[in-house]
Amino acid sequence: MQPDPTASTEEAHALPAGRPAAEILTELKALRTADAPTRGGRTFAYVYDAGREGLGELAAEAYAAYATVNGLDPTVFPSVARLENDLVGAAAALLGAPPGAQGTFTSGGTESILLAVKTARDHARSTRGVTDPQLVLPSTAHAAFHKAAAYLGLEPVVVPVDPVTYKANPTAMAAAITPRTALVVASAPSYAHGVIDPVARIAEAAAEHEVLCHVDACIGGWLLPYLRRAGRTVEPFDFSLPGVTSISVDLHKYGYADKGASVVLYRNAELRRHQYFTHAGWPGYPVVNPTVQGTKSAGLLAQAWAVLQHIGEDGYTFLAARVAEASDHLLEGLRTTPDIHILGEPEAGLVAFTVLTSATPDRPSGTPDLSLLLHLADEMRVRGWYLQPQLSFDGLPPNLHLTLTPATVDRVEALLTDLPEALTTARTLPPATADPALTDLAATLDPDTLTPDDVAGILAFAGLGEGGGLPERMAPVLFLLDALPGRLKERLLTEFVGSVFRLG
Ligand SMILES: *Cc1c(COP(=O)(O)O)cnc(C)c1O
Repeated sequence: MQPDPTASTEEAHALPAGRPAAEILTELKALRTADAPTRGGRTFAYVYDAGREGLGELAAEAYAAYATVNGLDPTVFPSVARLENDLVGAAAALLGAPPGAQGTFTSGGTESILLAVKTARDHARSTRGVTDPQLVLPSTAHAAFHKAAAYLGLEPVVVPVDPVTYKANPTAMAAAITPRTALVVASAPSYAHGVIDPVARIAEAAAEHEVLCHVDACIGGWLLPYLRRAGRTVEPFDFSLPGVTSISVDLHKYGYADKGASVVLYRNAELRRHQYFTHAGWPGYPVVNPTVQGTKSAGLLAQAWAVLQHIGEDGYTFLAARVAEASDHLLEGLRTTPDIHILGEPEAGLVAFTVLTSATPDRPSGTPDLSLLLHLADEMRVRGWYLQPQLSFDGLPPNLHLTLTPATVDRVEALLTDLPEALTTARTLPPATADPALTDLAATLDPDTLTPDDVAGILAFAGLGEGGGLPERMAPVLFLLDALPGRLKERLLTEFVGSVFRLG
């Protein structure tokens, strides 16, 4: 175990009497040394580095200028409406929105999706009297849709994707639409595999049944149009398709704004109306909340606005070309690396690959090897690279996931040198195993009735004991997790993350 970077230094958590500003800032900076770097192109998830001097400083200054402004009330702070209208207008223009389209600035992809699902639920209720709504999703749809369904009381109807292309199957999606369907979802691209669903056919099927269709362009919305502008072929995925009724696009991904910036767009104002929460039945001020939050800092809006204005159309086109260049180079290298198999045909800055057992005469193409894959991720981490492990699901293989950014371009060569080396080392490690006794036991456990002691026992077994800190190597933990049934996995994850955010 490494020293636990999550442990608070103070036994008691009460505040100090007060401390000098300089000391505090020094401590904040020092705390970050255990974190993955957010700049420099070696962290292939969670962070988006445009690789441009001065962009972070601009965002920070713009944030600071608006940090104290409350986005709750544009009648008191009209600048908020001006910035938001500019920014939503830019997103609408980029994504082919027709005249009359409307949207909202939100805190991120998850919130944009929550709001789009709420809108669809309330729209289905008010226009068609649907009281037990369903949400039709390809199995690769982002988890945020399941979160929205859980929060908002919709039934997710999950449709398996094509096992070769990893794209949604439009015929099966169409067949899943019922009179209870509130919303049909397509991704452009999906987070897990970076492939674009056949949006045109899905949106057409939704329109035929007169139900709404959301395109999750959280990660692709600010990249695909600029890839097109840079000369790449991108199939239509946006409001140019008549059946598309809403789109989410994150500015804190390929818009390169700081975290906490996304937009949700609707084809018209009548749709967006269902997103708003209004309440006049209390003695306080009349409440109109377009988003989940009430009081919110306008700082996030201002920094996103500043970054968008600064990079501009030409800047985004240049940056998209850089991402494409990194992707081409990486895919080419991965294709010639033995025992690496790219999943589907990645189209938009995301790459997922699995690792195969070495070919043998009777199995010439090898099969996905989870233990090797997880050891590879650990070995790459030792070499300063973070690749994101994704576990197997519904017949889809486990894989390592990379989000490419303009800062990746200059790193691809080094990555492609380290990868086969790390793989060679990974092969020498004892394969990760899941104790069959534990997995047999797990099959009989009901995650809902497990006692805290049961859960603590399983976590300790996995090397994630209470107070033990984070394990240095994730392979044994993830291997065990992969072998457990879904609901139990979720329960353990809850307890694990609960043990990271813990007092004393
Ligand atoms: C990132 C992402 C989301 C969720 O967005 P957050 O900003 O992490 O809340 C949803 N869908 C896709 C396709 C994404 O890439």
